[in-house]
Amino acid sequence: METKNYIEWIGTGAGLNPVLGNTSFLVSNGERNLLVDCGFTVTLELIKKGKLKDITDVLITHQHADHIGGLEGLAFMDFFAYKKRGEARPNMYLGSEQFADDLWNNSLRGGLEKIQTDENEPVNAILETYFKVHTGKTVSVDGLPEVQMFSAPHVVGMENYGLRIGKDVYYSGDSLNLPPADAKLIFQDCQFYESKSDVHVSYAKLKRELPAEVRAKTYLVHLGGGWDKIDPKADGFAGFVKPGDKFEI
Ligand SMILES: [Zn+2]
Repeated sequence: METKNYIEWIGTGAGLNPVLGNTSFLVSNGERNLLVDCGFTVTLELIKKGKLKDITDVLITHQHADHIGGLEGLAFMDFFAYKKRGEARPNMYLGSEQFADDLWNNSLRGGLEKIQTDENEPVNAILETYFKVHTGKTVSVDGLPEVQMFSAPHVVGMENYGLRIGKDVYYSGDSLNLPPADAKLIFQDCQFYESKSDVHVSYAKLKRELPAEVRAKTYLVHLGGGWDKIDPKADGFAGFVKPGDKFEI
C-alpha cells in the first residue's frame, strides 16, 4: 500500500495567540515527521499529543520566538528523555550556515551549551550535539516531497523563508508576499490590520488583490486577535486553518 503524505497543523496562531498556539505543522508520512517551526507553544502541544518523540526532522523558517522558542525543550527531551544521540539525533534544516550560527549564538546557546550527562560530567555542547544540522535551501527527507526554501520578506534584514513542498503546496512562512497562482494548495499567513510597518501581508490586501481562483485555494494561518469574528469563506478564501487540521498532499 502506498503511504500517504499529509500536513498536520500543530498551531495556527500569530505570535501571541493563546488559543491557536504558534504557527507550526508536520509534513508526515507516518514514519518521517518533519516539523516546520518550533515556537514556544509547540513543544508542549507535541507532548500533549504524544508526538514529540516521533519528530525525526525539524525545519526552521526564521528566528522569531514563535518559530524557535520551543527548540530548547525539544533538544533536551530528545537528548535526555528519549536518548536520541549520535546517529539517532533528529535532522535540522536551516537555510544557511549564517542562519545556523545565529540560531545557536543568539538564541539557543544560553540554555543548551552547558549540560551534564549521566556520568555527571560537564559537557560543552554545540548545536550538532542535539541535531544533525543541514544548511541549504533544498530539504530532502526519505519518503516525503522535496521541500524548497525560498527567501521571503518579513522584517527588513532578517533571514526568513517560505516553503514550496513538492510541486503543489505553498507555505508563505511569515511574509509580506502574495501567494503564487500556480500552487494547488496554499497556506498563507496574514494580519488583520494594515500599517506602514507591516511584517505580514494583510487580510484586506489578500482579499483585494488575490484573484478569486487563487483565494479559493488559500487557507489562512498565523491568525491574530479578531480571527474569530471574521468569516474567510464569505470573502472567497478556502478558510482558516485550526490546530489539528490535516491535509493530504
Ligand atoms: Zn515572524
